[in-house]
Amino acid sequence: MDALQKISGLIKEYYSKADMAIDKIGSREFGFGTSDKKIAVRHLSFKTNEDLKRYAVQNAPFYVSYSSAYYRYAEARPMEKKEWLGSELVFDLDATDMNLECQRTHGRNFVCENCLVKVREEAVKLIEEFLIPDMGFPEKAIEMNFSGNRGYHIHIKDGEVLPLGEDARKEISDYISGNGISFVKLFPTSGLRGKALMGPKPGDYGWGGRIARSFIKALDGGTEALESMGIERGIARKLYAKRSLIEMGINSGNWDMVYIKKKDEFWQEIVRRQSIMQSDRIDRNVTIGIGHLIRLPGTIHGSSGLIAKRIKGISALASYEPMDECVAFGSEPMKIHIEGCGRFYMKGKEFGPYRNEDAELPAYAAIYLHLKGFGTIK
Ligand SMILES: [Zn+2]
Repeated sequence: MDALQKISGLIKEYYSKADMAIDKIGSREFGFGTSDKKIAVRHLSFKTNEDLKRYAVQNAPFYVSYSSAYYRYAEARPMEKKEWLGSELVFDLDATDMNLECQRTHGRNFVCENCLVKVREEAVKLIEEFLIPDMGFPEKAIEMNFSGNRGYHIHIKDGEVLPLGEDARKEISDYISGNGISFVKLFPTSGLRGKALMGPKPGDYGWGGRIARSFIKALDGGTEALESMGIERGIARKLYAKRSLIEMGINSGNWDMVYIKKKDEFWQEIVRRQSIMQSDRIDRNVTIGIGHLIRLPGTIHGSSGLIAKRIKGISALASYEPMDECVAFGSEPMKIHIEGCGRFYMKGKEFGPYRNEDAELPAYAAIYLHLKGFGTIK
């Protein structure tokens, strides 16, 4: 029996016990993938969660995806015949798209501890800094899922977002990415001679308040924090020395206590740091496109063997450890030849680093390495 057959057997076993209840199942389109194609068939629909489960047990799919859209006829094709009824608003955050320092060392395919922490922080930031305060979504309308591989999917199920078209979704995506924010709008007296530089206050709504708050945070963080915003060292020192005066000014919207030489770079850097990093290539399309299929919570992700999983709420998300919580397979020993990969943790155990060696690992770790392409199960 080759490795893929072995894994298939375990996937089948997983689905015989899995719980993957999904709301409004009859209005969703489903797609299924094989080991080499994430969506090999689509335009399928199921009347009940039991029907879906039966299909999964029978076919042991490597990927299960469903539409964040609801349709009158989910199985109809082409797309126009489905009769679109609305779509959840979905944000796809993936560690690979964050241009992390660590990825330059370990490559884009490997996921280290830092990658997982950084993408988790990004998901919390999206919810706590944008979705709840700026857009006013209640926490109960926000569904948080581990993607099954190296990121998070955030779904908004609020009735108000369902009918939004692609243009409105693009606006939301631009807003959280900080695209198109204007310095002159935030600092209306900038460039005007003899006028004090007026700008946003910490309590202001949206981006203005966010910029004021993060500048004050940098002031409190010291000269290095200020320098990392693109402020020259000499000026950063002066700012830090006068920080209480400056803070007092900003609290009332007066930024004139601050001498900012390269204004443009300065505020763009703040915006860059506070925005949500979505990749232009793929993930923004998940937000903007209304006919996308996305990994179904409760199912196996065929690129990792981990479970895409629903997370209970923001506080659970803030300390979520997918490499512990989303392990699908058992710990029976499995032999594997590992070409190479860095250190990683699963189920609280440390593995690696490995370089061109044979090993006997718990099934969940061996399958993880095999599906990631770092080794071959024997
Ligand atoms: Zn990393």
